[in-house]
Amino acid sequence: MSNRPTQPRESICPYCGVGCGITYNPDSGKATGWKGPVNTRGEICPKGAAAWEIVDHEDRLTTPLVRDGETFVPVSWETALEEVTEAFSEIVETDGPDALGFFASSNCTNEENYVLQKLARGLGTNNVDNCARLCHSSTVAAMGERFGAGAMTNTLEDLEEADAYLVAGANPAEQHPIIFRSYLLPAVRDGTELIHVDPRENDTTKAATHHLPVKPGFDIPLLNAVAKVIVEEDLTDEAFLETRVEGVDAFAEFLEGVAVDDNARQAGVDPDDLRAAARAYAEADRAAIFTGMGMSQHHCGTDNVHALLNLALLTGNVGERGTGVNPLRGQNNVQGAGDVGALPNVLPGYRPVTDSEAREDAADVWGFEPPATPGLTEVEMTHAFGEDLRGALVFGENPAVTEPNADRVRERFEKLDCLVVLDLFETETAEYADVILPGSAWAEKAGTVTNTDRQVMRMRPNTEPPGDARLDLAVLCALGEGLADDGVRFEYDGPEAVFEELTEVLPQYAGMSYAGIGTGSQRWPFPAGAEEGVCVLHSDRFESGRRTANLRAVEHVDPVDEVADDELVLTTGRVLQHFNSGALTRRSETLVRMRGEDVLQIHPEDAERRDIADGDSVRVESDRGSVTIEADLTPAIRRGTVFATFHYADPLINRLTGDTLDPVAKIPEYKHSAVTVEIHRE
Ligand code: SF4
Repeated sequence: MSNRPTQPRESICPYCGVGCGITYNPDSGKATGWKGPVNTRGEICPKGAAAWEIVDHEDRLTTPLVRDGETFVPVSWETALEEVTEAFSEIVETDGPDALGFFASSNCTNEENYVLQKLARGLGTNNVDNCARLCHSSTVAAMGERFGAGAMTNTLEDLEEADAYLVAGANPAEQHPIIFRSYLLPAVRDGTELIHVDPRENDTTKAATHHLPVKPGFDIPLLNAVAKVIVEEDLTDEAFLETRVEGVDAFAEFLEGVAVDDNARQAGVDPDDLRAAARAYAEADRAAIFTGMGMSQHHCGTDNVHALLNLALLTGNVGERGTGVNPLRGQNNVQGAGDVGALPNVLPGYRPVTDSEAREDAADVWGFEPPATPGLTEVEMTHAFGEDLRGALVFGENPAVTEPNADRVRERFEKLDCLVVLDLFETETAEYADVILPGSAWAEKAGTVTNTDRQVMRMRPNTEPPGDARLDLAVLCALGEGLADDGVRFEYDGPEAVFEELTEVLPQYAGMSYAGIGTGSQRWPFPAGAEEGVCVLHSDRFESGRRTANLRAVEHVDPVDEVADDELVLTTGRVLQHFNSGALTRRSETLVRMRGEDVLQIHPEDAERRDIADGDSVRVESDRGSVTIEADLTPAIRRGTVFATFHYADPLINRLTGDTLDPVAKIPEYKHSAVTVEIHRE
């Protein structure tokens, strides 16, 4: 049956976690905003406006391909699927299911991710992860442990009521532009103070009343100093501490060892500025924290977030409108991919795989019990390629560009016996594939995605995949049918049937329905029998089920890379016009026209010491590799630090980043790499 409607239907932007409503008109070939649950006036940013360009792009994969030596040859779907089934079955038979790894996708739908994790677990392995691992796994770990839910505590709508925003390690003006323009900026213009903690002045800083240009890797000294100011100056919320917080005395004792001036200098910020920022946050009637990858993407990312949570607890900024701790999630379904269990340690609903009751509950619906041993995370999987892992399926991700220490990752990809890539384009990862399966773009698919403030929304198709390309959900179900034991359900009558099943195993979605979402949204947690989802979390009780959460002493640990006198610290981030590995946005003529090449931001004094002029080609080198890139001299970046994005395959900035992992969340250290920078000579 044709997916092509007579009128354009409402869908959701394929890029960031804001979740703006956009639609694709196959007649005009353009994308436009509609008045969605988040972009209530139909506003969209340049990425959303250019999203149509990838739909009928000439480079779209239109037929399955299999490797033939150094090239790929087109084959039928039957042949391609048979090849995957045979290769994966042989691996399972010879080395067991844990010799396979599955990369799910945080910019694909809940239903697709749910089916993929079910496929992995049906085969007998928990080796399934998605690129949330690389952006906010540390936030989810810290918030899950202390508060009981790894998600925004509040809603975008109620956050407009805050009197102060503490934005730590995030740049919403460029990375979540509609949240910034439609929710934060109007509040700031109305008098809400904005404290920005970031080593770089960027578009968010322009709206800030306070800027703390923290040294990458030194967030904990800064946040502990803020906590100390709050306690020293009696800015704590005593009633909240008495009723909702534990460990108050032990934390006070810990703070006795914190010297505000020393910590501020260690973090590279002015002590008076830090005190002023601490007061602005703590004296506000209602203060909200926003956090991003500047906090989470560190070898101590989980502890960074723990230090942030302390501030919210000390000041009683939890459980009320306009408060809380609010991670700004990256891709359009990074929240949902985790919710539905595309993670190696938890089943749908963040229920640990080690919990026998959770496994039994899943077995009641799935007809098989998932394995009890946690699987490998994304980076751990790439480390194991060619050793414990012989085969992998990569769905809608581009780890050859996004994983740290990229040269090592690429070497590892070559060691796999069978790599299967399901994607829209022949990405840098697909170059290493044995089988490439052509999938579907946002304008072609139906299903649900969950945005950054926990709203589940529906995508609707407006056109059909080109050539022999197929809907991703159909491909994943076909793989499930070919690989899993008989009797395990992989035959669904479309995404609605999958959604119905996932609400049976995902307690936070239990009360939702596909029809109920309609062109609006339903927010989790939405328990069975409830009339609607919960907006502000932790109001009377934390989602952990407890009335209280604890304060936690967090000690600074030095960054992994030691920085020699002649070296600088490389930190990475995003820009407005591009997204993640750039696999989609680099193919958009409009976005490339707006921002074509990557540049290295370097402070003029650091450049002068190296005889580097604006626009010079420079060579940047770390212990892992080197790249050549154009220098952009700007005082916006703090001295001693350089900045580049991770959106490009050339220069491949992740050649320089390290793969030391946070001990809890296993997120890599992306934000602190010691590098030399010098003029590039041919
Ligand atoms: Fe898409 Fe995010 Fe831009 Fe909205 S803000 S149009 S979701 S990229």
